[in-house]
Amino acid sequence: MRISIENFTKSFGDTTVIEDMSLEIGDGEMLALLGPSGCGKSTTLFAICGIHRMNAGRLLFGDADVTEVSSQKRNVGVVFQNYALYPHMNVYENIAFPLKVRKESRAEVDRKVQEIADLVHIGELLQRRPVQLSGGQQQRVALARALIRKPDILLLDEPLANLDAKLRLEMRSEIRRIQLATGITAVLVTHDQVEAMSMCDRIAIMDKGRIVQLSTPKDMYENPSSAFVAGFLGNPP
Ligand code: ADP
Ligand code: MG
Repeated sequence: MRISIENFTKSFGDTTVIEDMSLEIGDGEMLALLGPSGCGKSTTLFAICGIHRMNAGRLLFGDADVTEVSSQKRNVGVVFQNYALYPHMNVYENIAFPLKVRKESRAEVDRKVQEIADLVHIGELLQRRPVQLSGGQQQRVALARALIRKPDILLLDEPLANLDAKLRLEMRSEIRRIQLATGITAVLVTHDQVEAMSMCDRIAIMDKGRIVQLSTPKDMYENPSSAFVAGFLGNPP
């Protein structure tokens, strides 16, 4: 689904952390929000999923204005850096959890959980508890849980930051494979330029609460609009 952010402003007290941001994410696109720590990436993500209210601006999911819609009523899937799995539940229960509020038959829930678990390659691990999984497997469970309701948008906040170097490489391509397989619109928040360039269709570079350049990885690398962008991408003039 196409997601439109229009003239988004967010303040905490007297401090404005996002200033008049506009951004359109295309249907099926994976877009990176890339920038240094504190530039406002997570704040933008929290506004899309409804955890934060916007001080000004509008948010559209397709043609629907969801600016005033509560987070529970938005169909978004979120994966955080620390996965936030429920430790007392097994993998099956973790993945099925977002379906519980709807009254679906056990057979229907079983079918959906198995389908998404197979897609993320944890179909054999449904009876395990999170502590019995590796970091990469835990992240796959978090992805499955985020995708089980076929959300309008998948939001990933530094999902690779807690993984060791080898797993990080593997999960980069795995997350992209899963995103392409589902055709879901996705936003990846990261401070890692290699991650953004290797996983995403377009990159929005942020600095101090503003988008300073929005383009494809290749175009941005070859034609950075400022020394900040060039330096951040590791291709200084
Ligand atoms: P990023 O994810 O890019 O590292 P954030 O979006 O988390 O940055 O934060 C942007 C700015 O907003 C930072 O200066 C941060 O300290 C501030 N900030 C974030 N959340 C809050 C909050 N709940 N209250 C006050 N300030 C906040
Ligand atoms: Mg953040």
